[in-house]
Amino acid sequence: QAKSDGRNAIRFFDKRMQSQINTRVMLDREFRRALKEGQFVLHYQRQVDDMGKVTGIEALVRWQHPRRGMLYPSDFIWLAEENGLIMHLGRWVLQCVCNQVAEWLQHGDMVVPPVAINVSARQFHHHDFLPNTLEILEKSGIDPQHIKLELTESALVEHMDATVAKMSELRAHGIRFSLDDFGTGYSSLAYLKKLPLDEIKIDRAFVRDILTDPGDAAITQTIVSLCQILGFDVVAEGVENEGQQAMLALQGCRHYQGYWFGRPVPAGQL
Ligand code: C2E
Ligand code: MG
Ligand code: MG
Ligand code: MG
Repeated sequence: QAKSDGRNAIRFFDKRMQSQINTRVMLDREFRRALKEGQFVLHYQRQVDDMGKVTGIEALVRWQHPRRGMLYPSDFIWLAEENGLIMHLGRWVLQCVCNQVAEWLQHGDMVVPPVAINVSARQFHHHDFLPNTLEILEKSGIDPQHIKLELTESALVEHMDATVAKMSELRAHGIRFSLDDFGTGYSSLAYLKKLPLDEIKIDRAFVRDILTDPGDAAITQTIVSLCQILGFDVVAEGVENEGQQAMLALQGCRHYQGYWFGRPVPAGQL
């Protein structure tokens, strides 16, 4: 009895694994096709200062899936990281942003703020990342000052020396760096001093309850003060109402991003 149960259990497990593998193979295939057929799009979200002036724009990728509808990064970035296609997607994102910036610059009446691009850990540490990035920028002809790369803490703490070297080389070309989702990763204050950063973004997890949770308010205040001392710009993410902005302003934060100022939208609606 026990033996046959065991065998059934094994067979059941096998079947489930097989179906997971099939799903993966299918997803992989769909992802490759999406890249080829241009199903990815970028949405753009503004960053503003306390006068309401747009001081930055963040590019956020979406997958317009022919059957599943609009997919968000949390649905597919993990897949791209696992199957290695993140390099392919990352190149497309950079190229798309460069083209967009070039187009905006052609409207002579428009001041174009830096556009932030998210770079995942696997992508940043790939040996092709640096040459690819420089090549795309050079071919596009736009000034690297228009680009800002957003990295997360997890991307930066691994291989510290190599990371600093890579960032420094890109920075020597005029590309700026921002530390995304600050406070949620392996935040060590020691490495903040070593990293050639221009900006830190306070994770929206701390902004959400800033008006009701004294702990969160203390954390945002500490990050703002730290940035002032270390000479980094600071941007608060996920600002959804006036109260949150007012509290952050009181704490000395001057740059904000969030639904209160505008949702991510296609370039034409920005
Ligand atoms: P992130 O870089 O921290 O981007 C901010 C996320 O917060 C975006 O989610 C944005 O839509 C959302 N957001 C903005 N304002 C608010 C707000 O007021 N309230 C709330 N609740 N959310 C807000 P999204 O677009 O789903 O992107 C999620 C993450 O996916 C990004 O987090 C980033 O880490 C990653 N990602 C996005 N685009 C790319 C990309 O092109 N390449 C890579 N490697 N990762 C990307
Ligand atoms: Mg980001
Ligand atoms: Mg973030
Ligand atoms: Mg995030």
